[in-house]
Formats: sequence, C-alpha cells, structure tokens
Amino acid sequence: MNDISTRLERVRAQIVAAAQTAGRDPAEVQLVAVSKTQDVPSVRKALDDGQNTFGESRAQELVAKAPLLPSSTRWHFIGHLQRNKIRKILPLVELIHSVDSMELAQDIDRIAEELGLFPRILLEVNVAGEVAKFGFKPDALREQFETLLTLPRVQVEGLMTIAPFAERPDDARPFFTKLRDLRDEVATGSGVPLATLSMGMSGDFVVAIEEGATLVRVGTAIFGPRTNP
Ligand SMILES: *Cc1c(COP(=O)(O)O)cnc(C)c1O
Repeated sequence: MNDISTRLERVRAQIVAAAQTAGRDPAEVQLVAVSKTQDVPSVRKALDDGQNTFGESRAQELVAKAPLLPSSTRWHFIGHLQRNKIRKILPLVELIHSVDSMELAQDIDRIAEELGLFPRILLEVNVAGEVAKFGFKPDALREQFETLLTLPRVQVEGLMTIAPFAERPDDARPFFTKLRDLRDEVATGSGVPLATLSMGMSGDFVVAIEEGATLVRVGTAIFGPRTNP
C-alpha cells in the first residue's frame, strides 16, 4: 500500500469514528480530498482508492489538471475565485464552496445564464472576523441572504468556513458551532434548508464533524505535505 492509500484509509476511519461519537450517520459526511499543488499521479492514486471528489483552490491549476484525469472525477472549487476565472471553472465544478461576496454571486449567476448552467454554491462565512480572510461577515450574510436567493441561476446549498489556525483542534470548535448556529438561524428565517456545512481541514475535521460538518476538506492528511503551500 502506498502512503496515500494508508492515509486515506486513516482519514476515512476518523470520519466514521467522529460521526459515531456525535451520534450522526457517517454517510452524512462527505470527504473532499484537497489536491491543490498535488500532481496528477497522486490524484490518480486517490481515485484508485475510491476517492471521487477533489478540491482545488486555484482556477488555473484546476483548468490544467481536470483534463488529465477521468471525466468522472468530481471537482469542487474551494479557494477565492476571481471574476475573470468564473467562465473557465464553471463547466468543470460540481460545487463552489467559496462564494465570498454578493458581487461574486451575481457574476457567477450572470455567466451561468450565458453558459446555460445552474451552479451549486456555498457561501463562505468569515465567522472569526479575521481581517485578512475572505467571506461574508455573519451580519452581512443575514442582510444579503434574501437578495442572494433571488439570483435565478445559483443554487445556494449551504455555508462554508475556514477556522483560524489553532494549535489544538478543540480551539476551532467555537467557530464551527457559530457556523452551524448561523445556518440554523438563516435556514429557519428563509425556509431554505442550507443542508450543507463545509467545515474542517486536516487539523480539525474531527471536531468539525462533531459540530455538524457534512463536507470536510482534507489535504495534507491524505496527500502529505504540500511542496508549495
Ligand atoms: C488547502 C485548503 C484545505 C486543506 O487544508 P489541509 O490543512 O491540507 O487539510 C481546506 N480548505 C481550503 C479552503 C484550503 O484552501
């Protein structure tokens, strides 16, 4: 067994254990293998081990990599998306986790109309209020949510967050709880289920699952360290 197989198996076991600890069905938690900076053979190894969904955070890298892998490979976009890259990635991705402003949502909607697509999206929330991070502030999300729902093309399926870097996984817990509470509040207020919560990375996905994550974005715990982080 190669390293990727071993690590992937360990991550899967941790996902199942975390879900069971939280009294959740492990099938509710989907693993997105974050393949940014990883080469095509590494992605192939993970595919051979049954991993079918991969996350990329740079448009150019996704556009270069996707044609080199089977067309059945599922791609999620998880990074900050520049407006001039929307047209290129929309036909390639199954879900965009990182819609971080009203303007971006509107641009995606307009281009989706031109391309005849109905993109599935998540809204990225800056729950910790970190200055250097992208994402809706919780209050802005509350204010703008109804307007986002009027966009005819984009399908808003849930929320995403990146917890601040923490030495101990448990330090990330309050941010995951906040995202879940915000989801509950906005879903109840709007009647839109927002069933998807994308939260948790290599260092904190166990805690995120305990707090309700349905998508975890795990890179280094599967592929090993990135050469170019
Ligand atoms: C890189 C990245 C990840 C994965 O990070 P790891 O710590 O390697 O698991 C998850 N989410 C986003 C948005 C990322 O950019």
